[in-house]
Amino acid sequence: MASSVDGSAARPVVTRFAPSPTGFLHIGNARTGLFSWLYARHHGGKALLRIEDTDKARSTQEAIAVIHEGLAWLGLEFDGEPVYQSQRADRHAEVAYKLLAAGQAYKCFCTPEELTEMREAQRAAKQPIRYNGYWRDRDPSEAPAGAPFVIRIKTPEGGETVIEDAVQGRVKVDNREIDDFILLRADGSPTYMLAVVVDDMDMGCTHIIRGDDHLNNAFRQLQVIKAMQGIEPGWEEPVYAHVPLIHGSDGAKLSKRHGALGVRDYRDMGVLPETLFNYLLRLGWGHGDQEEFSKEEAIALFDIDAVGKGPSRFDMKKLLSMNGNYIRKADDARLAGLIAPLIGPQADVALLTEAMPVLKTRARDLNELASGAAFLFKTRPLNIDEAAAALLDGDGRARLAEISARLHGESDWTIPALEANLKAYAEELGLGLGKLAQPLRAALTGQTTSPGIFDVLALLGREESLARIDAQAGS
Ligand code: GLU
Repeated sequence: MASSVDGSAARPVVTRFAPSPTGFLHIGNARTGLFSWLYARHHGGKALLRIEDTDKARSTQEAIAVIHEGLAWLGLEFDGEPVYQSQRADRHAEVAYKLLAAGQAYKCFCTPEELTEMREAQRAAKQPIRYNGYWRDRDPSEAPAGAPFVIRIKTPEGGETVIEDAVQGRVKVDNREIDDFILLRADGSPTYMLAVVVDDMDMGCTHIIRGDDHLNNAFRQLQVIKAMQGIEPGWEEPVYAHVPLIHGSDGAKLSKRHGALGVRDYRDMGVLPETLFNYLLRLGWGHGDQEEFSKEEAIALFDIDAVGKGPSRFDMKKLLSMNGNYIRKADDARLAGLIAPLIGPQADVALLTEAMPVLKTRARDLNELASGAAFLFKTRPLNIDEAAAALLDGDGRARLAEISARLHGESDWTIPALEANLKAYAEELGLGLGKLAQPLRAALTGQTTSPGIFDVLALLGREESLARIDAQAGS
């Protein structure tokens, strides 16, 4: 049976990924999602998904769809149906009322003005700003009849709260720093702090793997868990693993200026899902010097104890060069299917598949791959770009006329024969083959970069090649 990192429990592992719909799936979030998912898969447990959609303005259907789409694209399939936090408000309130009934929470009738006054007094006295427990031991009958109230948890007044974090190690906080925070607002809605922990417990989560920006919340969430332990069964402390955030290559917190932040942006940049999967995996986790891991290898090898404590740095160049490697490893027909829509309706998947071994040798992303393949489907007269047009000057055209004559006479349209033919001509002229290839490439592709010139000739075939050459050749 799977067990937790602290080795003490024999509970089957249950992790959760709990993104908030913000309109995009942040790569940092996707990485903690990946870690949660891998941890569960590695330990033969369950990986659950919870959509934290309590912010009604931001949680549109579209914003939620972006999360599902991003996870599916990365190949992270979660177990069971996703939990939608907004649908569980009644249960959240129920827990608050149970804590109230058990004396672990209390009603606070402070008005907004009173709270402002409290804060100002604390500020003036240079005390920490926190709720001072005014209603903690007061009888609600002291409040005016019908006055609105919030429900606050009664946190311990002394001692400390300790977390043995699976990534951060032992972390603790003096309980005096944890004030009696709000569980249920005056309108009966749960606070984030309450909702998260009730959902985690009801989902049976044994491991909470998330960004270390939530470490402070963990100390508070633990108070709710401890307070509920005598009230309901199943409120076991989970193992926490707070993963350091991703930083940019300059060491600052990752932001827009370091490059795209959304998973969808990477897809649109022509990054393969396996590249992003592997890249995110390697941000903060490693296994010796190994650079690339298949999904199966990642599941077999991943464990939380190899997640580093220091922030990891996002390096776009590295990601793109890794993407080039993955493109070269990818199946040709699959790549052809991926780039055909980028080329347009004229693209022919069968021809792309055939051409793929030569097309994919250089591309770092699918967009580059598509633009490198576009020449295959151009119609005559070819659109010649500016740089290519410069190669089709008088000399270039004259040379093309010669080449045309030689190739018309070539009966064997294969790469070795074409190569032998043009090499002989280059030698006759006392020129490097590269010089000869320049106007030829311009005429055949309308561009100055392309796969190897003999590959281009072979892929276009005799008839199309000669027609394109003749269209540019001088007379
Ligand atoms: N919804 C929170 C977020 O997107 C995560 C909450 C958690 O993991 O506890 O930052």
